[in-house]
Amino acid sequence: MESVLQARGMKPATDSPDLEIVHTCSVTGQAAAKSRNAIRRAKRNGKHVFVTGCFTGTDLDIAMKLGDTIITQAGELPMLDRFAEEVDTWLQKPHTTPTRTNSTLPITTLPIFPSKHTRAELRIQDGCDAHCTFCIIPKIRTTLRSKTIQDAVAEAKQLVDLGHKEIVFTGVFIGAYGHESALRRKQQSPNSEHLADLLDAVSQIDGLKRLRISSMEPGDVTPALLDAMVANKTVVVPHLHLPLQSGSDTVLQKMNRQYNTSQYLEMIAIANERLTSDGLLPAITTDVICGFPTETDEDFEQTIAIAKKVGYLHMHVFPYSVRTGTAAARWEQLPVEVIQDRVQTLLQLDNELALSYRQKLVGKQIQVMIEQFDPKTNVSRGRCEYYAEISLKTNGKQGDLITATVIEATSEVTLAKQVLQILTIEK
Ligand code: SF4
Repeated sequence: MESVLQARGMKPATDSPDLEIVHTCSVTGQAAAKSRNAIRRAKRNGKHVFVTGCFTGTDLDIAMKLGDTIITQAGELPMLDRFAEEVDTWLQKPHTTPTRTNSTLPITTLPIFPSKHTRAELRIQDGCDAHCTFCIIPKIRTTLRSKTIQDAVAEAKQLVDLGHKEIVFTGVFIGAYGHESALRRKQQSPNSEHLADLLDAVSQIDGLKRLRISSMEPGDVTPALLDAMVANKTVVVPHLHLPLQSGSDTVLQKMNRQYNTSQYLEMIAIANERLTSDGLLPAITTDVICGFPTETDEDFEQTIAIAKKVGYLHMHVFPYSVRTGTAAARWEQLPVEVIQDRVQTLLQLDNELALSYRQKLVGKQIQVMIEQFDPKTNVSRGRCEYYAEISLKTNGKQGDLITATVIEATSEVTLAKQVLQILTIEK
């Protein structure tokens, strides 16, 4: 969007802009409420408000009432092309409508200025038709589209040229990359290893220092993908974000997830074995929903048991919240206090598990990508390949990969010491 505006000579304004764009989220009821507030705020500040994003799919009437120009996700033309069209209409400029269709995810037009961020997201996939009973996404992004390997590599090269050192693959359902459905039983070529091929191709880009996959389901972590991770381990990090959502098979079934707990644990065991056999310490993170309708104390205990068994580096804990328009919204809800209690229990466990994972790093040599420097304390911060946030003293600058040894892990911080580079002077 920024590049569309830049191409038309528009610049960011700090006060009283002529145009404000509110890119909304609607994945939870709370996100939708925040989106509504953001549109109202923009309307008060700006002269003309564009509303884009998922809220326009779930609450189109409200979006139309609150904003001036609405650009929904759905439509024949890719969203960004329709955005460009609306910008031209607003600027009263002639517009030529491109002829690309929605069958593949188009390459993103990137800003022309170098970036200040070390990390960039590369959206490789969009859409989901898995219909988990708590999720609204299949109603607003039903069409599955993937970026071709060629386009994804071209976009990744541009991101590296813009100064990004790390790329994260993102998507609504990354495991469906290259497939026409997120439901494995409906995939025409379920055994094709599109994601592994993409990982291989992007890893070869000169100047890319780190590559991460954001989130996958158990069935997506295939032996071929693990092989591609190991083969490209100088770039691809051994971090897997694998949403569990619940440790109870009864709840997983009610959620309409595509796996049960034994399949989940089996996949973790395979990933652990493959990565550790190559000297890597797998870092596993997850999402858990607390208080899904019908979740009993016993179900919740099973979630705790699985979390302990896996030993997550981090759990993203979500209290279940009703999303109007989903199946689970029509079921009897658990009391808020029960949900909050379970969230607190899981957050406490998250701290304990994270600490015990980070303690395993003590004594290990790691690579830290510097993201921030605090001049007051002289300490830099960044993430290591195992996803843990590391603090260290270094003269390295933002975007540098520093070799360091972890010296201490406490509940607050993981400290590392830079490994000194010894230079040999040839006589
Ligand atoms: S897999 Fe389930 S939770 Fe994820 S986007 Fe699809 S429907 Fe939503």
